Amino acid sequence: MKKEGSEEIRLEFSGLSSALLDWYDEVKRDLPWRSTSDPYPIWVSEIILQQTRVEQGKGYYLRFIERFPNVRSLASANVQEVLAVWQGLGYYNRALNMHKAAQMIVHTKNGRFPTRAEEWRKLCGVGDYTAAAIASISFGEPQAAVDGNVLRVISRLTCESGFISDQTVRKRLSQRAQALISTARPGDYNQAMMELGALVCLPRNPRCTDCPVAPKCRAHALNQVHLFPVVAPKKLPKTVNLWYLVLYNRNGLYLHQRGNGSIWRQMWEFLPVEEDEYRSFFRDQKNKKSLSINTKAFELQGEFDFERERQIEHRLTHRVLRISFLPFDCGIAFTDDTLTFVSLKDIKKYPIPIVFSKFLNAIDLWAGSTK
Ligand code: SF4
Repeated sequence: MKKEGSEEIRLEFSGLSSALLDWYDEVKRDLPWRSTSDPYPIWVSEIILQQTRVEQGKGYYLRFIERFPNVRSLASANVQEVLAVWQGLGYYNRALNMHKAAQMIVHTKNGRFPTRAEEWRKLCGVGDYTAAAIASISFGEPQAAVDGNVLRVISRLTCESGFISDQTVRKRLSQRAQALISTARPGDYNQAMMELGALVCLPRNPRCTDCPVAPKCRAHALNQVHLFPVVAPKKLPKTVNLWYLVLYNRNGLYLHQRGNGSIWRQMWEFLPVEEDEYRSFFRDQKNKKSLSINTKAFELQGEFDFERERQIEHRLTHRVLRISFLPFDCGIAFTDDTLTFVSLKDIKKYPIPIVFSKFLNAIDLWAGSTK
């Protein structure tokens, strides 16, 4: 594509923003965060929508706002309460970062939100896209919010021939998005772009005949929509294996809280073990009634439940987690510094990654039926 600056882009695509805004005014979805410009709910919705579809995010948003109606209530909440409301939504760093950012806003800014995107970017968990979305929607700052949907739309509108994953290409597309923003209604414009990407300019089978900006779209004019965005050949996702012992008795389960520095930081899980150790439990299964773990200081009497051993695969964006679970019925209660006994009736109060819940459901321990 020929070299071009913001001015050329603005000239070529003049009229695009008004066509887009007219369309948005007519068809926009009625979403709970769209009836306000208050930065707190806008911020919450944008964080939820970072890695979650609108339909799934709606219920979480409403529960979150009901439980933490303002930044002060979020800042003063216990981190476990925040994770509990977030449970099932995944990417838990979002909740932890929002909690930290709320405390920062309350303690260093007396509860007042920043008004400009560059200030929002200084808060935990707020990147360029989220900062631009909040600053434009709540404060009218003309900053283009550029996420994957918007990159796709702009790459088609402008027939961008570079790989969409390439940083230089993304920067170029972001500059074009910035050149196209409506300065009169930047918040609505950003939302209209997102809506166009979500409802019309779809990754597969875009609905060009319903598109309000089709007359301006280069890819459409050339009948080359299927060629954009240009995607680099895929790398295979890395597989990560994890092994767990599920220690339980008829009243509940033992859980371990993860530390920092992992995808599930501060959440609760079963007892993680090394592969060698896990495999060793399967040797001489018939007589095995006791559990001794080299890396732990305890030896337990009880019974392995080999029939209920399960492997579950859990796909993340760049990784596949292959997780093995082996239940061990330890009969009577015991104490250990690193494990917490949780009764079955209380277990839902603990933030547990969804993959562990799937396992519990699969073997009925969740429901309280231990055998
Ligand atoms: Fe996307 Fe088609 Fe609209 Fe172009 S005309 S922006 S490809 S939906």
